[in-house]
Amino acid sequence: MASLDDLPLRDDLVGRVPYGAPQLDVPVRLNVNENAFPIADVVIADVVASVREAIAGVHRYPDREFTELREAFAGYLGHGLTAESIWAANGSNEVLQHVLQAFGGPGRSLLSFAPTYSMYPLLAQGVGATYVAEPRADDFTLDAATVVAAIERHDPDIVFLCAPNNPTGTALSLDVIEAACEAARGMVLVDEAYAEFAHDRAQTALALLPRFERLIVSRTMSKAFAYAGVRVGYLAADPAVVDALRLVRLPYHLSALTQAAALAALRHAPTMLARVDELRVQRDRIVAELAAMGFEPYASDANFVLFGGLADPHAAFDGMLADGVLIRDVGIPHTLRVTAGTPAETDAFLASVARFAPSARP
Ligand SMILES: *Cc1c(COP(=O)(O)O)cnc(C)c1O
Repeated sequence: MASLDDLPLRDDLVGRVPYGAPQLDVPVRLNVNENAFPIADVVIADVVASVREAIAGVHRYPDREFTELREAFAGYLGHGLTAESIWAANGSNEVLQHVLQAFGGPGRSLLSFAPTYSMYPLLAQGVGATYVAEPRADDFTLDAATVVAAIERHDPDIVFLCAPNNPTGTALSLDVIEAACEAARGMVLVDEAYAEFAHDRAQTALALLPRFERLIVSRTMSKAFAYAGVRVGYLAADPAVVDALRLVRLPYHLSALTQAAALAALRHAPTMLARVDELRVQRDRIVAELAAMGFEPYASDANFVLFGGLADPHAAFDGMLADGVLIRDVGIPHTLRVTAGTPAETDAFLASVARFAPSARP
């Protein structure tokens, strides 16, 4: 059997590490920001009926333009959007990859603001683009001056702004996005994977689309719609941007089953979003209770909370895992990240983490 070192791998991939959040079979899994609630039975019934109907036609290729689905996303997003402004793929990771394939590539650069989503450097690497990360403030906020200065310094082809930011939960105000769009020569993508969990859902970059033809807003069904296992992400942008993405997508990249499953779930958007409200309650409860225990939780607009005040995060992580609670070490010193769970899962996390609280130390 050959090892990786024996293969004629691309030079720029040598020594790279793949994405790899642990997938462990423990009772309470709060490590990858999934939606804690399984899909409601009424929605499952509709999805199954739709997939059942779609499978009768799978001897044909699916609608390459997934027109019906794009219309449904436009309707869901509102803001006067129509199908021509919508694109979708197998998870928003693939949507981001399409953007990098069309606007990045060798000799081009992607700018973002760290700590941020760990896939950005990997996606840039995959298309041979350079990834540049500028630091956020100590509390992980990002202001217009910082963003504009970084854009002027690096003159990037693409800027990724994660809002709310993963792994910190930090919100981003629209004036920062506006300033980025005004300063940037290239494309500005706002990754709104967690937009539905925000305290103020009206704060979305979708509102800026009519003013900036190089602005892209990406979303996913993985989090708010509890569809992580189905793989559906989408974006809204000027129709010309969508034309650019058609140049790089594989033909028929969205299967007929995926299109049917996504359409069925979108018909139940209010049911799905009611669950999001319950998770927002658990998220706020985690922030409040961690603070009461003496930890330092960061303000979060997402379905997870990053918290500091841990003397030894590795020991705390292992101790919680021994209790059957899996959370995430995202590599930010003295912090860990936890996804908001069901009320019972959140109880289990809070009971376990209490043992490592500053207030519990002798
Ligand atoms: C979860 C997440 C995504 C979405 O991933 P999918 O491929 O849609 O499952 C995108 N961006 C960020 C910042 C995320 O945390």
